[in-house]
Amino acid sequence: MNFADSEVVATIMSEHGYGMTDNEFDADLVFLNTCSIRDNAEQRIRHRLNALKNNKKKNRQLKVGILGCMAERLKTQLLEEEKLVDIVAGPDAYRDLPNLVSELEDQHKSINVLLSLEETYGDIQPTRLHSNGVTAFISIMRGCDNMCSFCVVPFTRGRERSRDPQSIAQEVAELQKNNYKEITLLGQNVDSYLWFGGGPKKEYNKLSPEEQAHSVNFAKLLEKIAIQAPEMRIRFSTSHPKDITDDVLYTMKKYDNLCNYIHFPAQSGSSRILEKMNRTYDRQWYMDKVKRIREILPNCGISCDIITGFCSETEEEHQETLSLMEWADFDFSYMYFYSERPGTLAARKYKDDIPEAIKKRRLSEVIDVQNQISQKKNATRVGQTFEVLIERSAKKSKGDFMGRTDQNITTIFPKENYQVGDRVKVRIERSTTTSLIGKVIA
Ligand code: SAH
Ligand code: SF4
Repeated sequence: MNFADSEVVATIMSEHGYGMTDNEFDADLVFLNTCSIRDNAEQRIRHRLNALKNNKKKNRQLKVGILGCMAERLKTQLLEEEKLVDIVAGPDAYRDLPNLVSELEDQHKSINVLLSLEETYGDIQPTRLHSNGVTAFISIMRGCDNMCSFCVVPFTRGRERSRDPQSIAQEVAELQKNNYKEITLLGQNVDSYLWFGGGPKKEYNKLSPEEQAHSVNFAKLLEKIAIQAPEMRIRFSTSHPKDITDDVLYTMKKYDNLCNYIHFPAQSGSSRILEKMNRTYDRQWYMDKVKRIREILPNCGISCDIITGFCSETEEEHQETLSLMEWADFDFSYMYFYSERPGTLAARKYKDDIPEAIKKRRLSEVIDVQNQISQKKNATRVGQTFEVLIERSAKKSKGDFMGRTDQNITTIFPKENYQVGDRVKVRIERSTTTSLIGKVIA
């Protein structure tokens, strides 16, 4: 999401006459687009700022801006704590960046951390940064109205708002014109996407039939894009277990170009912890949704996010997470230990009482279970053939390409005479925990 935001910032700045450089030592202005989701994300930015002191020594004119969630969370505190920082701009203040930069001619520091109820940057065509020319992100909504107790996002990114489908279609058309082959639609909770003529936000089910006919929910948006771009692969992230609908699953089934893959974060396998997390579903609900996905889309790849060591989590509850992962047979997961975020519901209401060593031990157990599942699942794919979209050279072997299957599994194979952007059929010969290795057969 930050990557997509940086592409919007690049457009705003270039429209005001700023150019970009790949060499940071040439830059007179450096923006760091930041994440606050876990403490270590913020620590990385602090280290980065430290390293930028060298750049400032070489170029006294250098100005540094902190953008995004960390800017929103810390506001003026960031200016006090980090002397190097000249500009602080929250996620809804990017249109103001050229102005914030010019303000520095008359004043020492500048800041805009106003959150908006409407800003979606819908009219801004992102400048594709470091693009492979094949895959691109499209932001379809901003903010989040859920209040998961561990999560800082609603505080740093503000209220949920959906982007005008017309402007999304324009961005798709632009990517088609430039021969892109895959789009990932982005939102914190894509299933609650709802465009209702820009009117007040409501739930789709609560609209009258006439209002429904004039509105676009996520299933309808997917269908529109699938029809508009039949030559492209369409992915999306993230789906919330409480909101995913049969309509979305049937739409995925109906259109071949909608990839068979759902990122479906459970966070925990324990109903008591899920309630404390304010996820608004329990273990059984989550399992029923996974069953539904597999019923309607038998070949669908499913991945997960897990947090270990949330406030008061017992060993038994941790075991419930492990057993849920085994039951659900996730293709892969993103796994973290709980990091308390100031101001969140959990920070205010619950004690962060699981010692770090235990959080980390549980995390390594969760990772071990996922690795075993991934290894086993990937091994069953040996001998099978998958359609893969070639994205780039493989990182470890320059003679190989890397691409992903429809279900989002990384695949590595010799380049031969193929090109980035080609769709090829790859027969799998070997597998590892994280990838499939094979040869193109067509
Ligand atoms: N909107 C998405 C999540 C976005 S944040 C959803 O609801 O699924 C990405 C992931 O970061 C979350 O799924 C969660 O697993 C993790 N995360 C969020 N806050 C965290 C925290 N305080 N500590 C550890 N992990 C956290
Ligand atoms: Fe955070 Fe929950 Fe919103 Fe995801 S749905 S961004 S975890 S508050």
